[in-house]
Amino acid sequence: MIPFNKPYMTGKELAYIAESHANCKLAGDGPFTDKCHLWLEEYTGCKSALLTHSCTAALEMSALLLGISSGDEVIMPSYTFVSTANAFVIRGAIPVFVDIRPDTLNLNEKLLESAITAKTKAIVPVHYAGVSCNMDVINDIAKKYGIAVVEDAAQGISSTYKGQALGTIGTLGAYSFHETKNLISGEGGALLINQDELLLMAEMIREKGTDRSRFFRGEVDKYTWREKGSSFLPGELTAAFLWAQLENSKFIQDSRMESWLKYHALLRAAEINKLIIRPTIPDYCQHNAHMYYVVLAEQFERNYVLKALFERGINAVFHYVPLHSSPAGKKFGRVATDMSVTNSRSKQLIRLPLWVGLEDEQQNYIVKTLVNILEESK
Ligand SMILES: *Cc1c(COP(=O)(O)O)cnc(C)c1O
Repeated sequence: MIPFNKPYMTGKELAYIAESHANCKLAGDGPFTDKCHLWLEEYTGCKSALLTHSCTAALEMSALLLGISSGDEVIMPSYTFVSTANAFVIRGAIPVFVDIRPDTLNLNEKLLESAITAKTKAIVPVHYAGVSCNMDVINDIAKKYGIAVVEDAAQGISSTYKGQALGTIGTLGAYSFHETKNLISGEGGALLINQDELLLMAEMIREKGTDRSRFFRGEVDKYTWREKGSSFLPGELTAAFLWAQLENSKFIQDSRMESWLKYHALLRAAEINKLIIRPTIPDYCQHNAHMYYVVLAEQFERNYVLKALFERGINAVFHYVPLHSSPAGKKFGRVATDMSVTNSRSKQLIRLPLWVGLEDEQQNYIVKTLVNILEESK
């Protein structure tokens, strides 16, 4: 069986965890967390990066930081993971769903302005498959109406928009280091803060609403409860694991990109023959090979194709059930536009196995098998 995902370990993870263990550094914000923060700041060019225990946590921190409260509206695609919406819904906000672009499956920036109301507090572009949204247009609209932009860059580490790292372009950006992402720590994430005025508040929200971080820097002589907050920081063992991954990010990225490009080349003919649509990468984007997906032509039944692949030893998978059609999405959110692209694309999309160590022969087999199944059921 060719698995859909196989988490890649660099070989250093256990040694770094052992180091934390030997030094009795177990709680958060120890030396490995510091290394990860510095690395993220240098690598992405953000003002400040703070590790969190997930991307979900980073999005929840964003909602607190922006003071999102009951009745506020937050614009986002419906074609995304539940956390994009949940982080704001638990603060009482209303997710307002906008349709996606047919090419990148990202928030359609041309529909964005029509969704804005007096209650809109934030826009959450999701960089699907690590491919950038059209950030200039999104930022211009946000600026015009004085609203914040929170980039859900869960899948977007190492990708850029016009040369700038995803997650550093909006007001805030959220990364995920979940086992299914490119760089991993089991569960894990980071919040990137791109505005000076939010830095101290972000530290406090992450540290139970206290100024503990300032106390450890010697900026205040005692620490105390100052703001709303929670515990959003991961322990050192998680940071130690993550450090091994960050150190090896170039190898991981290069290897994934090689597999991505191979799929793209092998599937060119199938696109010309109108069996599938391959991903589109706009000129403004350098992507990170997070995912290889294809959109099946209308005449194919996705579940049949997935089952046929599975029977031939290939674990390909579908992706999101659009949030606007989920029970919670209906209860807590509303749609602002026609959702036809979201509905049609999400119904026909399949993701192919992509992980470090996937062999050329396996990719050849996957593509040949997929094309055969489609040709036979045409
Ligand atoms: C993975 C993912 C998340 C959630 O990340 P966690 O680290 O598991 O909380 C949120 N949004 C998107 C778009 C994702 O792909």
